[in-house]
Amino acid sequence: PSPLDKDQMQGLRGVREFLKVRTSYDVLPLSFRLVVLDIDLLIKKSLNILIQNGIVSAPLWDSRNSTFAGLLTSTDYINVIQYYCQFPHDLNQVDQFRLSSLRDIERAIGVLPLETVSVHPMRPLYEACRRMLKTRARRIPLVDVDDETGRETVVSVITQYRILKFIAVNNEQHTMLLKKPVRDLGLGTYKDLATSTMNNSVLDVIHLMVKHNISAVPIVDEDYRLLNVFEAVDVIPCIKGGAYDELSATVGEALSKRSDDFAGIYTCGQDDRLDSIFDTIRKSRVHRLIVVDDDGGLKGIISLSDILKYVLLYGEEEDSIRGG
Ligand code: ATP
Repeated sequence: PSPLDKDQMQGLRGVREFLKVRTSYDVLPLSFRLVVLDIDLLIKKSLNILIQNGIVSAPLWDSRNSTFAGLLTSTDYINVIQYYCQFPHDLNQVDQFRLSSLRDIERAIGVLPLETVSVHPMRPLYEACRRMLKTRARRIPLVDVDDETGRETVVSVITQYRILKFIAVNNEQHTMLLKKPVRDLGLGTYKDLATSTMNNSVLDVIHLMVKHNISAVPIVDEDYRLLNVFEAVDVIPCIKGGAYDELSATVGEALSKRSDDFAGIYTCGQDDRLDSIFDTIRKSRVHRLIVVDDDGGLKGIISLSDILKYVLLYGEEEDSIRGG
């Protein structure tokens, strides 16, 4: 192997070792606030709470049984929208849905419930990462058992974003070895991209996300140049207050309503190296990178799961055969 390959492999091993000696607990900030929602809450009200708190998901709590009841994410709202599309005459009922109805909504529209995996906060971070990749969960609740009451408590939620940020901040000596360009790594998706234009309706884009099982759709102009990205979380402000009829608005209109603290869109070129992508992750709130050419033409998309998968799994089998 070339020196470049050697460095790359050494960097990857370094990061993997690091993930094995740290726990999910280590990823959490020293002090944080966790918003947990009771499943008796009206779905309509949950939207306002998320927006007011500047968050896009929350653990659910079943206070009757004192148990953790899963995670609320933008996928749940997309399911409600699909329900509304399939049963448009049920708007009154949709308005009365509580978070406890989410499983019924899944059943009614025929989607499989997302597997809710949780991990213990003191288990190795590596385990949480592997589990994330295996289940395609984008976020995993950290569930502990209270010593005194013997009850489950949700400590926090870890996301791919938090993990990659943690790696980027604490592993510069390893990530700086990752000098191979994105092009050579085949990192991301470049074929059959799901895209949209500003003039399509929000509903069109939501259907596209459901169909392709993705959480972001690049918005392009007539020359296929990147203008923006519509994300699953952008759905939340669209249906605030139960305004499902506003989903027929255009993507352009919806994106103009984004909150001021929107993290922004991050792009990279196919010649960019993974070390510089980790620099971007270290400095910014990156949720995906859109790959563009020099003229801003859309080339591909690199999701956080693509990066995590590469960092954890690339060359793994050969490694385990050689090294045991
Ligand atoms: P998140 O972006 O929320 O972290 P994720 O990492 O699973 O979730 P998705 O956006 O769901 O990312 O992407 C899953 C896979 O689909 C990835 O391999 C990604 O490269 C690819 N992908 C993402 N967006 C698109 C798109 N618009 N068109 C085609 N493929 C996509």
